[in-house]
Amino acid sequence: KANRVFHPEDTVIPIGNQTIGGNKLTIIAGPCSVESESQILSVANQVKAAGAGFLRGGAYKPRTSPYSFQGLKEEGLELLKIARAETGLPIVSEIMSVSKLDKFVEDVDIIQIGARNMQNFDLLKAVGQTNKPILLKRGLCATIEELLMSAEYIMAEGNDNVILCERGIRTFETYTRNTLDLSAVLAIKKLSHLPVIIDPSHAAGKWWMVEALSKASIAVGADGLIIEVHNDPANASCDGPQSITPERFASLMGFLTQIAKIE
Ligand code: PEP
Ligand code: MN
Repeated sequence: KANRVFHPEDTVIPIGNQTIGGNKLTIIAGPCSVESESQILSVANQVKAAGAGFLRGGAYKPRTSPYSFQGLKEEGLELLKIARAETGLPIVSEIMSVSKLDKFVEDVDIIQIGARNMQNFDLLKAVGQTNKPILLKRGLCATIEELLMSAEYIMAEGNDNVILCERGIRTFETYTRNTLDLSAVLAIKKLSHLPVIIDPSHAAGKWWMVEALSKASIAVGADGLIIEVHNDPANASCDGPQSITPERFASLMGFLTQIAKIE
């Protein structure tokens, strides 16, 4: 179902009164994690003013250490809903467990499956039984074929609303957090009709690389970007070093609107 051979034209996914895919760019921006009402409202209002189409924010966080901040959980989802009501931006948040699916279907506009859950087949099948748009991130060590097969798991259950995300893969290089596989966009576009976006933040792990990698993503034909933006990166609960400030995000958006159609 994800294969372009059987579906030659690019898929465009409807989300509320917006779409992802086709001849324009989608920009999703927001903090790694929702931390407080003032934090999410401040970032949401600023990314909205800069032209973002969607607000991201983690409520349930898949952290490497069990002692790291795990997210505000239900409260995080409630705060995202407040930010959506105030800004009108649809919200994107990561699900970690099938047990939370009903809540996510009700509360969020796009359900994110994180890199660490790309091959959580029970989770893939469960979200496949909904009609929610799914943002499926490439696993840390997953091949393009494996990513497409995970999309297939969702689509095989009847949900064709899958957006793929390249977020860097683990290589021998340690300077960057991951290695951004820009050619994955070209490969996926050849193999599949699904929209593909890039997450330069988790790929680089360094805020100062995000702007150039965003431009490179557009050059290879990505359908959009998901970018971590934080009002106080130095004090972020999660992923501060890779988060750009709202001011830098606005300047990046100024550039992107000159080279692409953004909706
Ligand atoms: C995230 O988007 O905050 C995240 C945890 O990303 P990934 O699953 O790509 O590591
Ligand atoms: Mn993050």
